[in-house]
Amino acid sequence: MKHIVIPTLLLCALLSSCGAKDTTARKTIIAMDAAATLSINGENADDAISAAEKEFYRLDALLSRSAKTSDIYRLNENGSAAVSSDTAAVIETALGISRETDGAFDITVTPLTDAWGFFNQNYRVPSDSEIQSILPRVGYENAALNGNTASLTNGALVDLGGIAKGYACESAARILKSRGITSALISFGSSSIKAIGFKSAGEPWKIGLADPQNSQEYFMTLEISDTCVATSGSYERFFEKDGKKYHHIINPKTGYPADNGLLSVSVVCADGTRADALSTALFVMGADKAVEFQKKHGGFEAILITDDKTAYVTSGLKDSISAVPDGWTCIIV
Ligand code: ADP
Ligand code: MG
Repeated sequence: MKHIVIPTLLLCALLSSCGAKDTTARKTIIAMDAAATLSINGENADDAISAAEKEFYRLDALLSRSAKTSDIYRLNENGSAAVSSDTAAVIETALGISRETDGAFDITVTPLTDAWGFFNQNYRVPSDSEIQSILPRVGYENAALNGNTASLTNGALVDLGGIAKGYACESAARILKSRGITSALISFGSSSIKAIGFKSAGEPWKIGLADPQNSQEYFMTLEISDTCVATSGSYERFFEKDGKKYHHIINPKTGYPADNGLLSVSVVCADGTRADALSTALFVMGADKAVEFQKKHGGFEAILITDDKTAYVTSGLKDSISAVPDGWTCIIV
């Protein structure tokens, strides 16, 4: 079996450098099993970076599934736990987005991602009967929040991997802003990006979206200011077995990796937590349903890249994107 791990640090540097050259201070740290880069312009940038860095570690310690002292570890171990206000906020947002997306986003997908080996990189293809036996444990109705007490039923387990990085970007941005920072880019590679203000007067941040078929290259650039971009792609974590590719975004209804022709989904939304969860949800929905969802709910924009060499871009982004590569079609929807 072929195990493929994308060199996250390299990708992170490649993807965020597009918008963050010449910033006053820049630092890459490891948090939430990923590389996060902070690029800040202006006075006191080094102090602000230290404060944001601490925030990433603080949230990682609460939201991590593997750290034995985390809220999520205790919740999964005991089926119920008093959690911090940050953890409660993330769970509440996650459950709300599960309801909105009819369960396409679901933090209880965990026993399935475990069965496919994505948690510990012990990749394997579970038998269909194993998947069917796990499905009753999966469903956002199996997770509840009552004040700051979270609880699980029916053998459910939760993992905030599809939403925590967006929340962390938002929290770090709040800290930077409270320190007077008005120009910064916070990015977990291409997974979650938060832009504060402009890169410089009148010049937006320019970020690179990875080419899903060659993730070391850009697919297109996107100009942003004061907003967030989250990308979910089948190229981010996957393995191959008998010539078939299996990736880490699971359809909670079928138990299998979402297989609907989408290669990647980027969501642009003022709120990073929402952007992160929605990019995962839209990836599960497939392009047609995702566009329908965007039209119905609004409040965000999206770029959907499909395996028939088409990029569907919602109309609010038409003046912010660069041309698609040769051989690709861009359809504004
Ligand atoms: P990334 O981790 O690169 O930011 P995503 O935001 O799309 O990518 O999150 C994918 C992670 O979310 C998976 O590794 C898994 O832990 C979890 N996950 C997988 N499928 C779902 C789903 N349908 N709903 C919620 N979380 C999911
Ligand atoms: Mg996500």
